[in-house]
Amino acid sequence: MRRTKKYLQHLFLITMLMVPAAAYASDSSDDEFSSEDCRATTNMVPVDETVPDETPTDFKKNPLFEFPLEFDVIVEDLTTARNGDIEENKSVEEDKKDLPNNQLAIIADNQLPESLPSKEEIREVEEKIKSLSDDIEKLIMLANNTVNNNTDPVIMGYWWKIQKLKNVPHAYARATRELEDLKQLPKQSSEAADIRKYLDWMCRLPWGQKDDVNVDLVKASQILDREHSGLDKIKERIIEELAVRKRVPNGNPPILCFVGPPGVGKTTLAMAIAEATGRKFVRISLGGIRDEAKIRGFLRTYIASRPGGILKAIADVGSNYPLVLLDEIDKLQSESNSGDPAAALLEVLDRSQNDKFVDHYLDLPYDLSNVMFIATANSYNIAGPLQDRLELIDLSSYTLKEKMNIARTNLVPKVLKEHGLTSEEASFLDSALEFTISNYTSEAGVRDLGRCLGKMCRKAVANIEKGGMESIIFDPDKVREYLGKPKARPTAAFTKHKVGATQGLAWTSVGGTLLPIEAKIVAGSGQIIATGNLGDVMKESVTAAKVVLKWLMPEYGIKADSLNDKDIHVHAPEAAVKKDGPSAGVTITTSLISALTNIPVSKNVAMTGEINLNGEVMAIGGLKEKLIAAYTAGITRALIPKDNEVDLEDIPAEVKQRMEIIPVEHIREVLKHALVKED
Ligand code: ADP
Repeated sequence: MRRTKKYLQHLFLITMLMVPAAAYASDSSDDEFSSEDCRATTNMVPVDETVPDETPTDFKKNPLFEFPLEFDVIVEDLTTARNGDIEENKSVEEDKKDLPNNQLAIIADNQLPESLPSKEEIREVEEKIKSLSDDIEKLIMLANNTVNNNTDPVIMGYWWKIQKLKNVPHAYARATRELEDLKQLPKQSSEAADIRKYLDWMCRLPWGQKDDVNVDLVKASQILDREHSGLDKIKERIIEELAVRKRVPNGNPPILCFVGPPGVGKTTLAMAIAEATGRKFVRISLGGIRDEAKIRGFLRTYIASRPGGILKAIADVGSNYPLVLLDEIDKLQSESNSGDPAAALLEVLDRSQNDKFVDHYLDLPYDLSNVMFIATANSYNIAGPLQDRLELIDLSSYTLKEKMNIARTNLVPKVLKEHGLTSEEASFLDSALEFTISNYTSEAGVRDLGRCLGKMCRKAVANIEKGGMESIIFDPDKVREYLGKPKARPTAAFTKHKVGATQGLAWTSVGGTLLPIEAKIVAGSGQIIATGNLGDVMKESVTAAKVVLKWLMPEYGIKADSLNDKDIHVHAPEAAVKKDGPSAGVTITTSLISALTNIPVSKNVAMTGEINLNGEVMAIGGLKEKLIAAYTAGITRALIPKDNEVDLEDIPAEVKQRMEIIPVEHIREVLKHALVKED
């Protein structure tokens, strides 16, 4: 490190200042900032003999405070000098001229040590200066305020805090103006309370501070691997993103948005990114927000006005360089009379304008360009323009094998540690983990699994502490004993072939699921009845299926007009759950044909696909979730639209190996694979 004369001179100067300042600031002899301590640790410089032995009660009596102190200038000079900006060969005389105060320069000059201090000594003094600078500032403030005859402690307190905004001129000017107004108002007035609240927010916010961004990608990769098993593609994408941000710090990259059911690691991934990039982590829950002001702040004219969620989060975390997680961005309500929160969020996320983000409450531009935003969502139902700013990254359900792997690598060690258990004291057999997953959890992610493991460890600790045992190896019997009767009712495939009942596959925001559809042809007048809490789109699918049925029936030897005196009844069990979407088209048609022809549908088959009036099968969404659900339920053959064949690349190998996945183009193919052939 380059160390100039001026740097050393200033370092010395600050040390001289800090000794009496610390003495003044400390009230008791055992205070960590006592002057004795300072003497002991600042052995590189001779201690000023003028420093009083007793703590001064009046700083004015201390010679160092009898002239105006320009601490800020000294610190600034010190920093510049440290950065090597000051020419090495500048004379001491010239340096002295630059110093804020001649007297200080003389003190410094007279007592400058003969030999240069060692690196360690300098570092030690630097540390001390850092820790004492607040106390010194406090004293300077006291000095200045007393000189100005402003002794109201509230005003003085604000004045002192506002000085820290000096490097952000617009914020400093505004805060100073507000403080001037406050001085004029009676303390008890509501206006004074408003201003105090405003100044509190101003001073709480981290202004103009920019932390160093130096992301070590190898380390980042290690952190991601340490926290999460699997998810290789996602981790790769995150590392790419960090690399690009490192190269182009001022770019306008898309905001990563992790989309997936609960418990699959969206939040913890974001936390790991924060750790990997050395940022503080803060989460804003967007679920149910329908008011723009919750994002952009409430005007000061409102009662209970306050800044919006973005600035509040930044103030809470105390850094303007945090990672802000915008949680459940899909739950943001956009239709409202009180402004569009999605539009406000768009502004927040746009790097080209977010360096001047204006919160309604603060009414000042605030620089958000250093903030890293990441979003999460359970579904793709995200407001159009907002979706445009996001890069959606899929985190879908885990298979049993993936859950076992996560449990073994991450959850079990974590839970054991949390409960103070060693692996010798408590361990889990694979069969115990599998039994727990299948019988006590029915989730896409692993959150409940973590809870179950926690519950078992809690009981194990209690038993060990009570002296009832020394260690435990969990097997399925022990799991049953510790967790009680199984809670989860796993969605299982049909146990027998059924006439008029087909197993469809549905996507929900909490993962995929089997969606059986029943059909019955009953005497009537050609009506269509749809029950089981079906949405409009599903009801339309039933009507479309009837048209397909009419031209398909003759292929099965049934006259088309035979439906004229019959009603078609389509029902989806679990009527309490609302179902909608077009992807049940093939399922409804298969059930109807089965009901008409009396040919049963195979219990081993599940299907998904939209259908048009010509019987062509069209692409659907959420294939991965649906296939994992089918596999978990024990289905051995899944029929999917041919157009979705490309998505098979993302399906876990385990699912593809154990289940026959057949891409189909037409309803005839569906029926060929689904209806049970007579021998
Ligand atoms: P989400 O935000 O998707 O609802 P979380 O990030 O809160 O889920 O994760 C829930 C729990 O599951 C956390 O304890 C997390 O560590 C764990 N978890 C989820 N996925 C993984 C994974 N792939 N590896 C390790 N732990 C995981």
